[in-house]
Amino acid sequence: KKRKKVGLTTKIFIGLLLGLVTGVVFHYAVPAGYVRDTVFVGGIFKVLGDGFLRLMQMLVVPLVFCSLICGSSAIGDTKSLGKVGIKTLGFYLVTTALAISIALLVGNLINPGVGLDISQLEATEVKTAESVSLADTLLNIIPKNPIQGLAEGNMLQIILFALLIGIILAKLGERAEVVSNFFAQFNDIMMEMTMIVMKVAPIGVFCLVAKTFTNIGFGAFFNLIKYMAGVMLALVVQCLVVYMVMLKIFTGANPFRFLKKFAPVMGFAFSTATSNATIPMSIDTLSRKMGVTKKISSFTIPLGATINMDGTAIMQGVAVVFAAQAFGIPLGIKEYAMVIATATLASIGTAGVPGVGLVTLTMVFASVGLPVEAIGIIMGIDRILDMSRTAVNITGDAVCTTIVAHQDGGFDREIFNDMTIK
Ligand code: ASP
Repeated sequence: KKRKKVGLTTKIFIGLLLGLVTGVVFHYAVPAGYVRDTVFVGGIFKVLGDGFLRLMQMLVVPLVFCSLICGSSAIGDTKSLGKVGIKTLGFYLVTTALAISIALLVGNLINPGVGLDISQLEATEVKTAESVSLADTLLNIIPKNPIQGLAEGNMLQIILFALLIGIILAKLGERAEVVSNFFAQFNDIMMEMTMIVMKVAPIGVFCLVAKTFTNIGFGAFFNLIKYMAGVMLALVVQCLVVYMVMLKIFTGANPFRFLKKFAPVMGFAFSTATSNATIPMSIDTLSRKMGVTKKISSFTIPLGATINMDGTAIMQGVAVVFAAQAFGIPLGIKEYAMVIATATLASIGTAGVPGVGLVTLTMVFASVGLPVEAIGIIMGIDRILDMSRTAVNITGDAVCTTIVAHQDGGFDREIFNDMTIK
């Protein structure tokens, strides 16, 4: 009898759900102490979970570098590249501004901070963001030493350097054939490596989620349940309404198919809470399952993982409403406009790694005079929101990428519609 093969997508989701259940059970059934902390949280779950995460992180820099060189040399001229770049930036900015607006709206509907007894909540010390001037931010895109940029995984520097190499390779043509072939082949090697690492994703995802939930359980959530509900609701609206409507309008593609095919990437982002580590899987899924050319995605996905954080902006919007209400500080239209502006900038400045959204939130709070202590209150429950918003962050990148690719003739509808590709 032929047995039906379970696809990777299903396996990842089974891993995620089992991890969640295991974590919650462990949190309540296994007493905190030696066995729980060293054998599970610090032992098995940590080694397998973090080991998998490190494998994914190992792929990021070489993959982004090589695939971007190949992508930009395939597009060739700077004019077309510039067009893709400007369009992508436009979509990224608009979706972020929409995200915060939705968050502010939802915040004002749910009123997460009204009637909250702040004295009952434990505040922890808050890390604040050092504000960097716009001039420095822009200058930082240019690597003084590209090798150092690569070594540090500085995404914007890597993007710039790879784009330049790609453009020049296209210009030199046959004269640089050896180098061109080298990067093309190295890129194939990295894609192959991604596929191999993905095979252990279900176990990795299980362990990461189990570790997190063994640590946090559910107890701390109840005080802040309205805040959490607000963030979650706004995330869902952004994902299911804003993105899917945009996808339908601009490409005509079926949003449900998109979600179904992209779901494992979201699951992975949720388990790891890092956009950066998701880059290889995102590029691979978009090209293999959804027909989005790597020429575009190799550029727009790493860029998005670095500067486009709609989920993070949503958390920041709801957090602003929460803090203003909890501390009784009225906000007017002027303050809200300020929040939209600073949270968009904060989203650009937030690195795609766990928890940074809370650090850049201090910038947003400072811009409208809200006390940073409020951040200490929401910190305790931030991990689960971090996981959720990261899933939205990378979905936004993928939707914008699909739209830009479609407009550029780099979207293969047949592959997108083929639901048999696993
Ligand atoms: N963890 C988020 C990400 O990697 C960033 C954040 O909001 O903290 O996309």
